[in-house]
Amino acid sequence: MRLPVLRLKGSPSEIGYGHGKQAQDKIQRNLEVYFRRFKNETKLSRDEALRRAEKYLQVIRLVSPAYARAMEGVALGSKTRLLEITALNVRYELMYSQFAKIGLKQVPRVDGCTAFGAMPKATVNRHLLMAQNWDWIPQVEGVFLKIRPTTGPDVLCFTEAGVVGGKIGLNSAGIGLLINGLISNKDDWERLKKPFHVRCSEILGSKTLSQAISRITRGERSCSANFLIGQQTGLGAGKIVDIESAPEATGAFSPEDGVLAHTNHFLNPEQLGVKQVLDEERRSTLHRFARITQLLQQRRSGNGKVSMTKAEQLLRDHDGKPESVCRHENPSFSTDERYRTVVSVVMDLYAGQLQTTLGSPCEEEYQTLRL
Ligand SMILES: [Zn+2]
Repeated sequence: MRLPVLRLKGSPSEIGYGHGKQAQDKIQRNLEVYFRRFKNETKLSRDEALRRAEKYLQVIRLVSPAYARAMEGVALGSKTRLLEITALNVRYELMYSQFAKIGLKQVPRVDGCTAFGAMPKATVNRHLLMAQNWDWIPQVEGVFLKIRPTTGPDVLCFTEAGVVGGKIGLNSAGIGLLINGLISNKDDWERLKKPFHVRCSEILGSKTLSQAISRITRGERSCSANFLIGQQTGLGAGKIVDIESAPEATGAFSPEDGVLAHTNHFLNPEQLGVKQVLDEERRSTLHRFARITQLLQQRRSGNGKVSMTKAEQLLRDHDGKPESVCRHENPSFSTDERYRTVVSVVMDLYAGQLQTTLGSPCEEEYQTLRL
């Protein structure tokens, strides 16, 4: 399968326009998927979703004019309405807090993901490696962006077509980003803070790890999320940190024995003053966390080191299938709620390249993309 890669350069407007033009059909399909999901799963009508998107457009124009210009470019290039593109870009805020608003009986569903990082001392070639399976609905259209901005580092990332901010990616300053959806009882779109995808875009535009961290921790957030970020500063040298963010607080975790993993639950919700929202039937995150941690520790205790190939093997793990690290549709949920691994990525921050599959890593061969 040929990977959809968009090559973009220039100003935020030009980058957005290229994205919109090259991915016009995929963006149209993502709009159909999300507006249907807003309505069916979160009882959010099209008009109400657009009304909320309009409020967020004002916020984005204020806190990140460059992101707003990129969204305008996407709308222009894909011949869609700016408010529709905005709704797509803030779908995280619109959907997640809505689950809580319509009553906690409704099962909150976050982007399911298993992510881990390995420090240079824990890898075969002393490169900093970061790896993730992103589990979501298979209908969503994903694309890879190769961005050469007029200012700031070059970026290689994965995103949903129409969403400006890449979720999983790396840049030419050696920064890498992985993300995990999280839900707390304090998440609320009405907080109208800088949205999740805007933060992702700013992290991938950062030149230093401390700058990237401040993109998460500064100010408050509308919704919770987890960010696993790293930076390689030379052969054998680098740092990894995991930041759990709730609306009013953040907490950081460091690697143990050179490795660090995260899935879709807070490791320390009390410290952040929030309650974990986890449904009985959605325990996949606990299993995936225990399993990936066990696999990484087994390797380290045997004095083993992580390589790109080993990381790919870990992402293909089927223990506990279908709710496994390599996730497959669970037939006990309704069609729109069946998540599976949509993209699998292993990144080498030193080499500035990644290995990826669109679809399950157990069914597809990994392909290489370079910055
Ligand atoms: Zn599989």
